Amino acid sequence: MTTLFISDLHLSTDRPEKLELFRQFISGPAKDADKLYILGDLFEYWVGDDDSTPPNPEILSLLRSLSEAGARVFVMHGNRDFLMGDKFEEATGATLLPDPSVVLLYGEKTLLMHGDLLCTNDTEYMKFRYIVRDPEWQKLFLEKPLQERIAMAKQLRAASKEAMKDKIPVIMDVEQETVEQFMRTHHVHRLIHGHTHRPAIHHFELDGQPTTRIVLGDWYQNENILVCNENEQKLVPVQKFLTNQ
Ligand code: MN
Repeated sequence: MTTLFISDLHLSTDRPEKLELFRQFISGPAKDADKLYILGDLFEYWVGDDDSTPPNPEILSLLRSLSEAGARVFVMHGNRDFLMGDKFEEATGATLLPDPSVVLLYGEKTLLMHGDLLCTNDTEYMKFRYIVRDPEWQKLFLEKPLQERIAMAKQLRAASKEAMKDKIPVIMDVEQETVEQFMRTHHVHRLIHGHTHRPAIHHFELDGQPTTRIVLGDWYQNENILVCNENEQKLVPVQKFLTNQ
C-alpha cells in the first residue's frame, strides 16, 4: 500500500488539460492508495467555501469520491487556497492539515509544509502572508460579496506575477537556515514540501544525522507525484504514474 503526495496543482478552468489529468489521477490509481496528501495550492485561488464557480464543485466531488473509495485525504493550505474551511472538509471528506504538520510516514517522523514559510528571503511576501493569515483580516474578507473577493484574488495574482519578475531566483527558493530551524523545532530528519516549483530530493546532514528534503513539483510543466511505501520514496511524473497502473 502506498502514500501519495502532490502539491501546487493550481487547478483552474484556464488549464483544462491539468483538470483532465487530475480527473484521471483521482478516478484512477489514487483510489489504490492508503493516503493522499495535497500539500497546498490545489486551487489557483480559493476565496471562500461558498464559491461554487467551476471548477470547484467538480474538484470537491472528485475528492469526495476518493474519500468514499477508502483513501484518507489530507489537504494543507497553500498561499493561494488558505481560505479552505469547514465546508470544504464536509464536502470532500478530506481533513485539513495545519502548516506545518508532523506525521509518521512508515515509522519515520516527517515534517509536512506547503513551503512558503521556508522562503524567508522574500521579506515582502512574508509581510503579505502575515496580513492575510490574520483571522480578523480573513473574517472581513469573507464578509465581502463573492464577486468582489474573486476580483481581489485575480488582482493579487496579477500583482504577484508582476513582483516575481523582479525577484532573483534565490529569493523565491527556501532558505536553508530556515529549513534547519523548522526541522530542529520538530525533531525530524525528513521534510516534504512544495511551493517553490523546484522538484528534487535533497540530502544533507543535520546535527550529524542524514537528512532529506523532498520538494514536490507543480502542475505546470513539472507535475509529479511522490510515491511512498515501506521501502522507498520516489518522485514520479504524473503521466508515467497513470500509465504504469
Ligand atoms: Mn505556493
